[in-house]
Amino acid sequence: MSQEVSNIQPVEVWKNFVLLNQVPRPSKKEERVIEFLISFAKKNNLEYKQDEIGNLVITKEATLDMTTSQTVVLQSHVDMVHEKNNQVEFDFLNSGIKMYVDGDWVKAKGTTLGADNGLGVAAIMAVLESKEISHPKIEALFTIDEETGMTGALNLSDSILSGKILLNLDTEEDDEICIGCAGGIDITINRSYILSDLSNDEVCVEILLNGLTGGHSGAEIHKGLGNSNKILFQILNEIIKDFKISICSINGGGS
Ligand SMILES: [Zn+2]
Repeated sequence: MSQEVSNIQPVEVWKNFVLLNQVPRPSKKEERVIEFLISFAKKNNLEYKQDEIGNLVITKEATLDMTTSQTVVLQSHVDMVHEKNNQVEFDFLNSGIKMYVDGDWVKAKGTTLGADNGLGVAAIMAVLESKEISHPKIEALFTIDEETGMTGALNLSDSILSGKILLNLDTEEDDEICIGCAGGIDITINRSYILSDLSNDEVCVEILLNGLTGGHSGAEIHKGLGNSNKILFQILNEIIKDFKISICSINGGGS
């Protein structure tokens, strides 16, 4: 039954999904699936480490054509929701998921399927064991306990990853990339200053920085567009190294 799922294209992903789904992996009881991934890492001669809460990172070096590219973190959570239909007898803690193909769909017999986020895990495994795919250095981050509190992600060690780009593979759309931030914060800074009159040896200069392309931080954050406020202060920070300057006024933002 699961054999027909293993044969779906791309088989590199689906066969790993089938292997993964043989391992019980309810939230807060991820020991066995983490063991499964550690033996997968060993089989593929890949380095791995775990943080204190139990998240696992498997590292794969860049292919020779991409050694100068930035490290990319691929993230998926390993736990799944164990639910079954009332009339179904199923021992989640000791049985793998029974899967079958129904037209265009892969389904589970009377239970949850574990595609969330098992397919993400399987896709990462496919990259980790691939000998053909070109890729930068990969840090595969497998987090625990997403479904019942996100305690894995929330307690992620701040020293277990080196990559600055993270692709989270926990999504329901297979043809979209969602670019967003993990949260927001408002900051109010209060400083005092002393007003003074211009002295005779001071010269007034106006610096005008404009002509940058505007953009929305939600939709265009990935374009690397300049922020005139930030650039202006970078300029002032450079000037201040060689000259004594005072600020008359600063105006930035919408116009
Ligand atoms: Zn999920």
